[in-house]
Amino acid sequence: MFLSLSTHAAAAIRVEVHASRLTPGDVGWLHVRGVPARAMIEGSIAGRPLHFFSYADGQAALLGLDLDTAAGTLPWTVEVVDAEDERRVFRGAVDVGSRRFVVQRLTVPPSMSDLDPETERRAVAESAKLRTLYRVVTPERLWQGRFLRPVEGTDPGTGFGARRVINGQPRMPHSGLDFPAPLGAPIVAANGGRVALVAEYFFPGRLVVIDHGLGLYTLYFHLQSASVVEDELVERGQRIGTVGASGRVTGPHLHFGVQLGAARVDPAALLRLGVSH
Ligand SMILES: [Zn+2]
Repeated sequence: MFLSLSTHAAAAIRVEVHASRLTPGDVGWLHVRGVPARAMIEGSIAGRPLHFFSYADGQAALLGLDLDTAAGTLPWTVEVVDAEDERRVFRGAVDVGSRRFVVQRLTVPPSMSDLDPETERRAVAESAKLRTLYRVVTPERLWQGRFLRPVEGTDPGTGFGARRVINGQPRMPHSGLDFPAPLGAPIVAANGGRVALVAEYFFPGRLVVIDHGLGLYTLYFHLQSASVVEDELVERGQRIGTVGASGRVTGPHLHFGVQLGAARVDPAALLRLGVSH
């Protein structure tokens, strides 16, 4: 499916946008067909760089909309410079629709909600470390084909984008998808990548972050155990740990998050992504 097409009159280069209308949290992709051999390609959407990889008869790049993206239009630009230094620029726009997120009211023990200053500092430092990690763009694609659900079952998961009110206090929106799963259930890597982080953080508990390359990361929180180590290469479907209830949780489940550059995107959108190889 593609809904937007931009063709350069002088060449057989075409930019397809899958899809041209997205809502906050969505993951789409651009496919630039007919890119000549040895050409350089660059692009951006709303001023943020796109990271291209070889795909079919050209190059492709994922685009992710943060859950807080406002409705409107996001312009994109793709620039191809061929071996003869001829430069071609393609422009278009993606329409961003609005999306309503649920409001979740949760009650947790006051010790997990009203933090003492030292714990508060720890939690702030840990989330800063994660944001720093997500800014690292590994220049190669380490994933292939469809993304796998990281736990068994068919439950679609809940809570992406939920505006959370914890013990009556509004908090940061929930940026992952929570899958119900029993304590000790196996967790698998959603796709190939390199283990970027294995740690114990205050809110996420025991966690694993996988770098899939080109700015894409998957996050697995609240684990009981992790069976991978940092820098280890993992394959799609490889076991990386077990479901737990570590960190701030109300019971055992897997919190599965997806980060694409600075964008907190909907894991369900990544699982639906139609990049076939
Ligand atoms: Zn969660």
